[in-house]
Amino acid sequence: MSRNTSSTAKTLLFWISILFLGVMFWKLVSSNGTGSANGTSQPHTSDWALILLNAAPLILLVGFCLFLMRQMQRGRTGFASTGSLAARTGMGYDLHRLEYGRKLIVGGIELPFDKGPVGHSDGDVLAHAMCDALLGAAGLGDIGTHFPDTDSKWEGANSLLFLEHAKKLLDEKHLAIEHVDAVVITEKPKLGPHFPKMRDALARALGVSPDHIHLKAKTNEGVDAIGRGEAIAAYVVATLSQR
Ligand code: MG
Repeated sequence: MSRNTSSTAKTLLFWISILFLGVMFWKLVSSNGTGSANGTSQPHTSDWALILLNAAPLILLVGFCLFLMRQMQRGRTGFASTGSLAARTGMGYDLHRLEYGRKLIVGGIELPFDKGPVGHSDGDVLAHAMCDALLGAAGLGDIGTHFPDTDSKWEGANSLLFLEHAKKLLDEKHLAIEHVDAVVITEKPKLGPHFPKMRDALARALGVSPDHIHLKAKTNEGVDAIGRGEAIAAYVVATLSQR
């Protein structure tokens, strides 16, 4: 059952329940009110007590239905009733060709290797993908929006500057970085031993604890340009919260 169908079914069930409870309550009041000993249509005090006693489970059911309705309302918005987003997620991706004689910088750290990325800036795929994930989660476009490769100002730039700028933009929107999860795909060199330094560098740029950043590495098993050692790529997912 799709989410929309499920929501419609819940709504229908809710209103059928309300209708059913209303009819039951009306019948209960009618039967107690017309069955009094003096033949009038007004119930005695003892009749009212009986009505309230019988109605207690119904009142509980109505309360439950109201609770259910509130939960459904929250489900439709996906977030709490404050009207603001409690959490946002963004994803980023980047790929750079690798050529001999260039510095290989990943996560703000220069790695010993005979190839490096071709790019306008330092070609740090991890920092670039991370920047896109953060900007995407904040609804602020992508890295090209803020740092166009047509601007000579960013030629050879340290990509950690992009992350620092993204962090300022997040602060302006009162968005906090909850978690960043990343995977870097390259055939060589091995990245795992460098992760602690990368996490420290990235965390400093983002003004968060390294605990907020998780890094993983993959090879492409010799498949395609990455597998042949001709390129390096990164995927990043970032989660933000509204402060
Ligand atoms: Mg890039």
